[in-house]
Amino acid sequence: MAVLGVTLPKASARNERLASALGSRPVSTRAIVTGAASGIGRAVAAALVDGGAQVLAVDLQPDPDGPGAPFAADLTTRDGNRAAVERALEAFGGLDTIVANAGFQHVAPVAEFDEDRWDALLALLLTSPFLLARYGWGALAASGDGRFVAIASAHGLVASPFKAGYVAAKHGVLGLVKTLALEGAEQGISATAICPGFVRTPLVEGQIADQAQAHGISEDEVLERVILAPHALKRLIEPAEVAAAVLFLLGPGGSAFTGAPFVMDAGWTAR
Ligand code: NAD
Repeated sequence: MAVLGVTLPKASARNERLASALGSRPVSTRAIVTGAASGIGRAVAAALVDGGAQVLAVDLQPDPDGPGAPFAADLTTRDGNRAAVERALEAFGGLDTIVANAGFQHVAPVAEFDEDRWDALLALLLTSPFLLARYGWGALAASGDGRFVAIASAHGLVASPFKAGYVAAKHGVLGLVKTLALEGAEQGISATAICPGFVRTPLVEGQIADQAQAHGISEDEVLERVILAPHALKRLIEPAEVAAAVLFLLGPGGSAFTGAPFVMDAGWTAR
């Protein structure tokens, strides 16, 4: 097929399946998705698997029933990240995509912020994406169309009080993908960071319950007055919407997106 004088490669059958699932033109992918047992990671893994991709579903507590091939690893450790990449290469014979998603939140004023929680946040939210890129770099380059997608956050762009570790790590992830994008361009590797606002996952549901108890108000009031306060759109983002953004970035339409945040924050940072 020729578009604007450019001849596009013919898609494989697997690419066609993925394309129809994405509602776009095809990509083939052998992927690592971290934090794949819950929330956003689970939605991303499910969408990729539905499209015919091969997915290593890495988690501290992977779901044996998928989506994706479960792989247990503690991604706060070097060994855990290395083992995940090695298993993907062993299982798939290569790697086209890394979705660095695993995360957690810790909320405390800075003077009381537990130092071990700080270390763990930085290890999981920032060092794990770096290690996955480091160990998977050769394979992404060999793919010829390597895609690195980090699930960062609107907190990679703006801060909120009491979230020092999370906000610092997510800002760091944006710096990491900029660097990966510059280093990867010649090898056909792109790197982006999706920056969602609040997404309906256990990570947020836990905060709603905690804050309701702390403030002595109902969960509905916490949602409206606290959680959704920064959103222009007064609703939570759904995990499937973040998965759709990931699939777009992994598809042909996403190939010019590199080295930049991909913001889906329900209007948060427009203020
Ligand atoms: P979640 O709690 O639903 O899922 C996180 C997953 O990460 C869990 O399955 C958990 O087991 C796994 N995990 C935690 N520690 C791990 C470790 N040491 N090693 C391996 N796996 C580990 O959370 P979520 O809301 O789906 O968040 C996913 C990502 O999206 C996080 O990076 C989070 O910061 C980001 N994010 C979430 C929101 C939101 O509102 N939910 C908004 C913006 C960004």
